[in-house]
Amino acid sequence: MFSQFALHERLLKAVAALNFEEPTPVQAAAIPLALQGRDLRVTAKTGSGKTAAFVLPVLNRLVDLKQKRVEIRALVLLPTRELAQQTLKEIERFAQFTFIKAGMITGGEDFKEQAAMLRKVPDILVGTPGRMLEQLNAGNLKLEHVQVVVLDEADRMLDMGFSEDVERLCGECPSREQTLLFSATTGGAGLRDMIGKVLKDPEHLMLNTVSQLNDGTRQQIITADHNQHKEQIVQWLLANETYQKAIIFTNTRVMADRIYGHLVAKDVKAFVLHGDKDQKDRKLAIERLKQGGAKVLVATDVAARGLDVDGLDLVINFDMPRSGDEYVHRIGRTGRAGNEGLAVSLICHGDWNLMSSIERYLKQSFERRVIKEVKGTYSGPKKVKASGKAAGVKKKKTDKKGDKKVVAKRKPTAKPKPNAPLASADGLAPLKRRKPAPAAE
Ligand code: AMP
Repeated sequence: MFSQFALHERLLKAVAALNFEEPTPVQAAAIPLALQGRDLRVTAKTGSGKTAAFVLPVLNRLVDLKQKRVEIRALVLLPTRELAQQTLKEIERFAQFTFIKAGMITGGEDFKEQAAMLRKVPDILVGTPGRMLEQLNAGNLKLEHVQVVVLDEADRMLDMGFSEDVERLCGECPSREQTLLFSATTGGAGLRDMIGKVLKDPEHLMLNTVSQLNDGTRQQIITADHNQHKEQIVQWLLANETYQKAIIFTNTRVMADRIYGHLVAKDVKAFVLHGDKDQKDRKLAIERLKQGGAKVLVATDVAARGLDVDGLDLVINFDMPRSGDEYVHRIGRTGRAGNEGLAVSLICHGDWNLMSSIERYLKQSFERRVIKEVKGTYSGPKKVKASGKAAGVKKKKTDKKGDKKVVAKRKPTAKPKPNAPLASADGLAPLKRRKPAPAAE
């Protein structure tokens, strides 16, 4: 029940008018803390109800303002125009019984019209960092009285190169009392850096639970001998599986380009997206996929973030993602809206332990699949520990061809590692112990 929150009656009236009955988990967790004025770092995906989780506390802060509209009081920064439009709509729906007004500033819109809108001074300003900074530099935007800043899809803003702009805009808000940061993933060093710079003693709410994985998606692994063998399997899957659209994930752009090249050589209509591609390539790829001109996308995680394409029902992990969280994120793209999906991870000798860590994180076991037409020799470790990891495989002396030699040298029970929990609060602890993968995005 939304009435459990200390929200203004005008907001509760809007909640009722919108037929929101039960708060979603992210709303239940974030709204009370945000109402207390805490800084929050929330890991939650689009579709979780995260927008209302910040819009309601922000509106609650502004609803009783005695002063007429003279200053911007709240700033919502987000990565794209589409997200800005959706968020503005959500704010307007919740503010319908109040006098609070919101405005939007994004790239690709008329600069002068935006300046005119700013002269009317909205209470809440929503928009993308680049254009906001341009308006600020042009002297059209005053942020001195902003009390609360929301950074929505902060991980994606970082991926899009907005980190400096975001920090600069936060720095332009000297009256800022509260900052709420939302991201779809737990992010990397860049996000941690931003959190350290802009949040004060934040509470971390982790809502990206494994249960968000769609039940309609089958999850399989296929063992492979090496990368060329993986490519053969990919080609077999693309030729023989029934799917509308497929996405192949790699951990590096070099590998993405290589797979793409081989697919194109085989006349597969494909597109590739990675960190070297610009916004135009990205738009084109997404358009072609949406319109059905291409059926296959090869992508790195960063490039694929935020991608929302209907009918994406086959996900192939050419490389295993580096964390359980990223796995959930990748696989979350399939089987949307109740459709069936298939996720296949290709596992070489060196991928096995990461794969088994992810199984433990998900608390489920992937279906082992063998395709006789492209069957190789590697079929998993000879012996596995109770954890599912290869027994006796040592970090340094790993035998690249197999684990036989190492297994023979060592008793499986020798020097047991401390029995770490399956997953820490952010589900990453067991996976983090891997040494970092080399080439990154
Ligand atoms: P979001 O994750 O914020 O993009 O929200 C996804 C969709 O769910 C939006 O259309 C919201 O209006 C809707 N929504 C969010 N919270 C609730 C709720 N508690 N009850 C019903 N619908 C909701």
